[in-house]
Amino acid sequence: MNPTQSVSLEFFPPRDIAAQEKLVRSAKQLLALQPSYVSVTFGAGGSTRSGTADTVRMMQNLGCDAAPHLSCIGSSRAVLAEILDAYKASGVRRIVALRGDMPSGMGGDAGELRYASDLVRFIREHSGDWFHIEVAAYPEMHPQAQSTEQDLDHFAAKVQAGADGAITQYFFNVDAYFDFVARAQAKGVNVPIVPGVMPITNHSQLLRFSNMCGAEVPRWIRLRLADFGDDRASIRAFGVDVGVQMCQRLLDEGAPGLHFYTLNNAEVTMEINRQLRLEPAASH
Ligand code: FAD
Repeated sequence: MNPTQSVSLEFFPPRDIAAQEKLVRSAKQLLALQPSYVSVTFGAGGSTRSGTADTVRMMQNLGCDAAPHLSCIGSSRAVLAEILDAYKASGVRRIVALRGDMPSGMGGDAGELRYASDLVRFIREHSGDWFHIEVAAYPEMHPQAQSTEQDLDHFAAKVQAGADGAITQYFFNVDAYFDFVARAQAKGVNVPIVPGVMPITNHSQLLRFSNMCGAEVPRWIRLRLADFGDDRASIRAFGVDVGVQMCQRLLDEGAPGLHFYTLNNAEVTMEINRQLRLEPAASH
């Protein structure tokens, strides 16, 4: 890892006191990695707006630069303006701007802004350059997109609307990431596109998430995980090996940093980083 390559971390708002205590423990451990910032999800898994703001405040109190995720689906301009003003007043300088998804099975009003590019434009209109804005990128294509080419154009539109950087959906195919970055650069996108890394810790959860977000879990990884059954220690050790190899290749081939989807767990993310930071063995 060279000095220009950053580490950032994603957390989600805890649902109860026990989960909050666990998050504080994990965050304190993970801060040893000196992340350039931490981000806090919004709406995912039913979390609320106040949950995101509370967790952002907690992270700020731990001394982190904290970036709330903000999604526009189902929201009005007035509500979004109020949220942005409240974040500005509490010293937040970064936002991860998303469209978000309607909760499954619910119809209802999709809101006044249709796509994340509209939200980025709105943030720039409303708050000027106060916020550093990250947006989502999909090396393996967003599941609702018609084609990789259209999805790339929609990604480029978010950057043209004023995004400063991007975090990718997680993936296990490193080639897909570098192919996406090259195609984005060929379209004139020159903001950092930071790979999102999902450490493997749980077989069924990984398959469920990947199914929803369109990330391909390669057959060899699925087969290895199936072999481990309920052996959680072996799954974690395998998750560390896969994570270290993938991250090392990403860093060696020039990714601007790594953004870890911690799922509020410290252990595997810590171990991957410990192994990545070890000095390479001296050659004889
Ligand atoms: P967009 O960029 O708006 O794209 C959504 C779809 O619309 C794509 O298929 C795109 O190709 C298409 N599209 C875009 N513009 C146009 C256009 N002009 N015309 C036609 N089609 C268009 N979800 C949460 O609920 N909470 C979170 O905190 C959260 N955090 C995330 C963090 C990261 C780093 C990532 C990668 C995803 C996150 N998500 C989160 C999931 C995200 O909300 C979903 O993937 C959502 O379906 C799309 O959001 P987006 O911002 O990428 O949307």
